[in-house]
Amino acid sequence: MKGDDLFSEALKLFPSGVNSPVRFYRPVPVMFERGRGSRIYDVNGKEYIDYSLGFGPMILGHADPDVASAIKRQADNGILFGSITENEVRLGNIIKNHVKSIEKMRFTNSGTEATMHAIRLARGYTKRKYILKMEGGFHGAHDYALIKSGSGTMTFGVPSSNGVPEEITKTVLVGKYNDENSIESLFNEYGNDIAAVITEPILGNIGVINPELGFLEFLREITNKYNSLLIFDEVITGFRFAFSGYQDIINIKPDITTMGKIIGGGAPIGLFGSSSEIMDLISPSGNVYESGTFSGNPLSMAAGIAAMEKLQGMDYSRINNYTADLVKSLYDIFNDKNIDVNINHYGSMFQIFFNKNEVKTYDDAIKSDKDRFFKFFKKMLDHNVYLPPSQFETNFVSFAHGRDDLNKTIEAAKEAVSCI
Ligand code: PLP
Repeated sequence: MKGDDLFSEALKLFPSGVNSPVRFYRPVPVMFERGRGSRIYDVNGKEYIDYSLGFGPMILGHADPDVASAIKRQADNGILFGSITENEVRLGNIIKNHVKSIEKMRFTNSGTEATMHAIRLARGYTKRKYILKMEGGFHGAHDYALIKSGSGTMTFGVPSSNGVPEEITKTVLVGKYNDENSIESLFNEYGNDIAAVITEPILGNIGVINPELGFLEFLREITNKYNSLLIFDEVITGFRFAFSGYQDIINIKPDITTMGKIIGGGAPIGLFGSSSEIMDLISPSGNVYESGTFSGNPLSMAAGIAAMEKLQGMDYSRINNYTADLVKSLYDIFNDKNIDVNINHYGSMFQIFFNKNEVKTYDDAIKSDKDRFFKFFKKMLDHNVYLPPSQFETNFVSFAHGRDDLNKTIEAAKEAVSCI
């Protein structure tokens, strides 16, 4: 098969044959060639319904014609100038007008860069040392985030990466999401030295875990009490459930926000934003350094504007209802076969935990049956459905998914559960 041969070559070039770890799975990951709408096609021409959506950005589906022509137009006009452009102002305004906590922002090339700079900014602003993150929370692949992290780090059993100096690890405190006591005891001990709490408002990198009632409000209150900053990492949740941040839906104002994925229409992007007072500490107006040759690059700006302008007119209840219907059908299918699952979802995000108990915390999530998840993933692949290849990732639904996709996914799941 063409894919197998290509992967043998990839193995000689890239560690495990891939350029980002969660793309690897045994024996040979599917090699995709093109996509359109809800469907993606591998190098052998096989079609799949896609619930990975490039790990989240492709909320309009693949090869959206408006996004594609915006990218083509920009390519014809030059793709890098290393200077401020009109499109940066346009995309910046779209975001500022819909996320209340953001007065100013900086675009970056990835969510990783966004959280790295956000953390430095929080330390620079507060002149404090510690960052408090959540166990299983994922904020990208820089040193301050790779401590008890989620996503691929959990899939491959390295939640705290080798190579991160102990001196850095010691400045990152790890609390438990949905567990106020664990956060409170860290504040009791270190409170006056905590620069910021950083969290995904909904955990999306150990599967999906929703905040318990009052938990995010509690984080807002305790950070206020100790004059620490609250950073919401909305790289996944930003503009996913409404044309705003998740923070605007729940009406909690973080001090710093990070975003990525959706806002670039599938092109590389990230951003961190805050009040003018805090953002003006960034160089050259302030002394917190941040930079990037490709930051705010014209291709990502063009793709982002086209995607965001289109998204603004979309009725999010469509993808939310699709997800709710799919989750309900999946429960019926698993229940019929007496297979214990708990399916967490919010809006257009969901994950199936092979776990007989509810999954409300990191400790619950890690008790899920990873091997059974993987068997299900492989069987779904056989039946033309591509889920993200790990128990500790999230499924996404796009505006290109329709009833035909829903019915075919349900049929595929019925076949898949009989063989796991
Ligand atoms: N923050 C969150 C919540 C993420 O889910 C991710 C990536 O999945 C990141 C940060 C890192 O973003 P990127 O992969 O664009 O560097």
